[in-house]
Amino acid sequence: MLEDYIIRAIAAEGSIRAFVATTRQMVQTAREIHDTSPVVSAALGRTMTAAAMMGLMLKGEDDLITIQLKGDGPMKGVVVTADHKANVKGYVHQPYVELPLNQKGKLDVGGCIGSGMLSIIKDMGLKEPYIGQVPLVTGEIAEDLTYYFFHSEQTPSVVALGVLVDRDTSIKQSGGFIIQVMPSAEEDSIEKLEKQLSLIPSITEMMDEGNTPEQILDKVLEGLNPVILDKVPTQFYCNCSRERVEKALISIGIQDLQEIVEEEKKATLHCHFCNKEFLFKEQELRDMIERLTE
Ligand SMILES: [Zn+2]
Repeated sequence: MLEDYIIRAIAAEGSIRAFVATTRQMVQTAREIHDTSPVVSAALGRTMTAAAMMGLMLKGEDDLITIQLKGDGPMKGVVVTADHKANVKGYVHQPYVELPLNQKGKLDVGGCIGSGMLSIIKDMGLKEPYIGQVPLVTGEIAEDLTYYFFHSEQTPSVVALGVLVDRDTSIKQSGGFIIQVMPSAEEDSIEKLEKQLSLIPSITEMMDEGNTPEQILDKVLEGLNPVILDKVPTQFYCNCSRERVEKALISIGIQDLQEIVEEEKKATLHCHFCNKEFLFKEQELRDMIERLTE
C-alpha cells in the first residue's frame, strides 16, 4: 500500500497552489537509520517533509534541492536532499539531543537548532547551484521556510509541518502542507485563505484525527475550489552505491590513494545520509591505483 504521498493541487482558478504530504513511514525510516531522539526526529522529519514537497516544485528531471539548517543549538544542523520525484534523504549532525518540552508543551525543535541560518541549495545542472540563504526566524522550520519563500523567492506562502512522536519514540504522525499565493490571486481569495488558516487545527492534530491529505486540502482551501492535479508517492531513499563511492574515492587521485594504502591498508567510506559503510580492501585500492596509472 502506498503509505506516504503528496497531493499537488491548485485553487482559486490556479492563483493558489498547494502541496499536502503524509510522511510517517519516511520519517520512521529516518528515525531507525539515524537512531534519533524524539526532538531530533521532529526536526529531521519536518525538514524531510518540506524537502519532499519542494522537490516536486523542481522542473528538471535531474534537479536536486537541499535544505540545510545550521544553528548554535545542541543538534547543530540538519541536511536534507530531495529529487523531483520526492525521494528524500537526510541526516542531522547530532542525532541524540534531549530537551525539556517548550512553553506550548511541544518538542522544542527551535531550541534544538538554536539561532543560525537556513540555506536552500538547488542543483539544476548548471555550473553553479542556486543558493538562497536567510537567518532562522524561530528554528521551528515551517516559519523559517515561510520567511525564505517570501524573502528569497518573493512568493507569499504558508508552510505547516508536524511530526508526532509516540511514547515508544516511534513516529505516530508526520506531514505538512505548503500553500503558495500567485501574483494573480485576488484579494477576496487571500482573505478566504487567511480565514480558513485561522480556523483549522494544527497539521498533526488533523492527521491524528484520521484526516487524509485530500481531506486536509479541503479543510485548508474550503471555499476556494481546490482541484487535485496529481498524487505522488514519497519515500526515504538514498542513491549511494558501491560504484558511486568508488568513483568518489578514485577522484581523490593517485597520491592520496597511495597514502591510504601505505598507512591504512584499507578505506572505509561512510554515507552520512543512510549510514551505510563501504569497505575497500588493500588489493582493491591497489587495483584502482593501477587503473589510474595505466
Ligand atoms: Zn547512502
